[in-house]
Amino acid sequence: RPSLLWLRRDLRLDDLPPLAAAIDAGSRVLVCFVVDPRLEKSSGERRLSFLFDSLRDLDDQLSGRLLVVRGRPDEEIPRLAAAVDATSVHISADYSPFGRRRDDAVAEALGEIPLEAVGSPYLVAPGRITKSDGEPYKVFTPYFRRWTEHGWRAPADTSIATRQLLDPADIRRSGRIRVPAAPTALSFPAGEKAARERWNEFVDDDLDGYDEGRDRPDRDVTSRMSAYLKYGNIHPRTMAADLGRSNGAKAYLRELAFRDFYADVLYHWPHSAWRNWNSQFDDIALDTDESAYRRFDAWKEGRTGFPIVDAGMRQLRETGWMHNRVRMITASFLVKDLHLPWWWGARWFLDQLVDGDMASNQHGWQWAAGTGTDAAPYFRVFNPTTQGDKFDPDGEYVRRWIPEIDDDYPEPIVDHKAEREEALRRFREI
Ligand code: FAD
Repeated sequence: RPSLLWLRRDLRLDDLPPLAAAIDAGSRVLVCFVVDPRLEKSSGERRLSFLFDSLRDLDDQLSGRLLVVRGRPDEEIPRLAAAVDATSVHISADYSPFGRRRDDAVAEALGEIPLEAVGSPYLVAPGRITKSDGEPYKVFTPYFRRWTEHGWRAPADTSIATRQLLDPADIRRSGRIRVPAAPTALSFPAGEKAARERWNEFVDDDLDGYDEGRDRPDRDVTSRMSAYLKYGNIHPRTMAADLGRSNGAKAYLRELAFRDFYADVLYHWPHSAWRNWNSQFDDIALDTDESAYRRFDAWKEGRTGFPIVDAGMRQLRETGWMHNRVRMITASFLVKDLHLPWWWGARWFLDQLVDGDMASNQHGWQWAAGTGTDAAPYFRVFNPTTQGDKFDPDGEYVRRWIPEIDDDYPEPIVDHKAEREEALRRFREI
């Protein structure tokens, strides 16, 4: 009897524990992906494009034997498992609130057929690391100490030969669809091979200087691995194994730990996806009137009159990616200079980003808003002008995204000094 490998956020073949488990469990393996209309609706065009391009890459690697269907996984997976009389269904665990609910529903609908989860998209899976009293960490630094002690598995070579694959063409009424066309063109390629190439290039060229350069959007030396990690085109374990001991490598590993930390926070506090992690901030006054929407549009379109903010917002709109320092600056600006709800900004980011991820994005936003775990203290208000001077000292990044900066550039839509006072006043009120 064959086994079923159901892929989700692990669109690769190398270092894929559920693939090894599926090969062990079945005479042959049916590899499938379910395009879930609920996720199609909530994912921006770039994320969908990245997903579909990754699936095409995978289908090529599997000699056209990837079965893609569309529907609800709690209907499609049991249907396919029954159609091939599968021994078991194999997955990497998904820890997001939506993923957990979906997988529970699938496990239940499968009845007798086991849904076996092994591995996760993280170096250390959410929920693994707790304080000695069993409570989850709320602060990154002590989490990171334990995370480092905890360690992770070495990467494993996994692959599958065509003869071990069940051919979807042999399944009657499989429901197979073509991998949908990418709705938009991406500024860089998706897929396992592209992930490897980008990673090798980063390790060769920029890893050693990462600790010094990572905060500088003008230098552009970060790895740009975020979308590959999001869709599992590569596992962070594979990357960690290449890191070595330079200061750049240490700084890089810390960022991978940040990714794990935010997944852990979302796992323990699923409400923090769209509501303040810290409910003390629920009563803060926010602007949601008509003029708030006008300011929101100016922010989205990169015409606030603050160059570093506008450069970031234009980079996001044009490419689907924004440098981390500028994500922090633009987020802070939305919350503290414009007094808008952080979740408005978070939703826009998720819509535009190719790496849009519930854990990293929502908690990045909550950090900027001062409402999250380990957040920037509310009284620290980024000054967009001095941030620009410090992290883009020659204005190179700004000129790259705002070519008209010297001629036809808008006046600032707010007075930073006054809005800073206003933000502090609103905080004091609660
Ligand atoms: P590098 O600097 O090369 O970092 C390597 C990897 O470490 C990244 O690919 C990422 O997986 C991880 N990482 C780095 N910084 C962080 C961080 N602060 N938090 C969590 N993981 C991190 N990251 C996303 O992957 N998806 C998002 O939707 C997202 N939204 C964000 C929103 C805001 C407001 C902020 C402040 C940060 C957000 N981040 C998000 C984190 C970070 O900005 C991106 O991961 C990073 O810019 C991606 O570029 P890179 O791969 O070149 O990063």
